[in-house]
Amino acid sequence: MPELPEVETTLRGIRPFLLGETIADITIRQRSLRWPVTKGIETSIRGSAIKEISRRAKYLQFHLDNGSMLVHLGMSGSLRVLTQPGFWKKHDHIELKLNSGNMLRYHDPRRFGSWLWSQGGHWQLKKLGPEPLSEGFDGEYLYRLSKRRQVAVKAFIMNSSVVVGVGNIYASESLFLSGIRPDRPAGRISKKRYSMLANNIKITLKRAIDRGGTTLRDYSNGNGDPGYFKQELFVYARNGLPCMNCRSRLTEKRIGQRSSVFCMRCQV
Ligand SMILES: [Zn+2]
Repeated sequence: MPELPEVETTLRGIRPFLLGETIADITIRQRSLRWPVTKGIETSIRGSAIKEISRRAKYLQFHLDNGSMLVHLGMSGSLRVLTQPGFWKKHDHIELKLNSGNMLRYHDPRRFGSWLWSQGGHWQLKKLGPEPLSEGFDGEYLYRLSKRRQVAVKAFIMNSSVVVGVGNIYASESLFLSGIRPDRPAGRISKKRYSMLANNIKITLKRAIDRGGTTLRDYSNGNGDPGYFKQELFVYARNGLPCMNCRSRLTEKRIGQRSSVFCMRCQV
């Protein structure tokens, strides 16, 4: 599933091809995504220039002269730039044609993504917590927000109104690196440990983005490899395997309906 680092990598990969371009045409072959593609989006965006593209949480926002398009990759979506016309592969649903002749193709086998148009704001962006890589996100912030909260710390940091873009992988890994048990109540963790946790969330995400940077060329090769990357993981999906720190067997527990793997010895 594309997480924040993949979305950021996608942004960096496609941005140079799109900025300042005018949308010559849009072809939609499948409208039923997580939310149906906005009715009339074709007439709204045809002939509009792309002034900016930004990321908020896991959304990509295409800012045009007359409004903005909000694109989410869902569970399995990817975007790629085609520099010459290519045949439509199965699960290719949408294509933007640019004045340069380049095309942006959207591919999404599970169709949980979205393409939404609005002349004003998008409600999906309201009530989102801070970006994890922003300065406003730190241990002090987490500590302040966690007071009297009984929810497990892992569910707490995966809640997008607390902080956006911390998916299961990054929550699991940064809790391990901070030595914090994922099922510990959020309100019972010290400020010092939250500082460590906030730091490790930033480090884990940045590392993934940096690694993704090496696959940027995949966004324009037209082969459809979205350029997602495997990272070295300490605990995520390693249930029953030895802890890389103390060699004892890692444990799995469901927390907030998500599988959570951790080390009973290293995480307290
Ligand atoms: Zn351990």
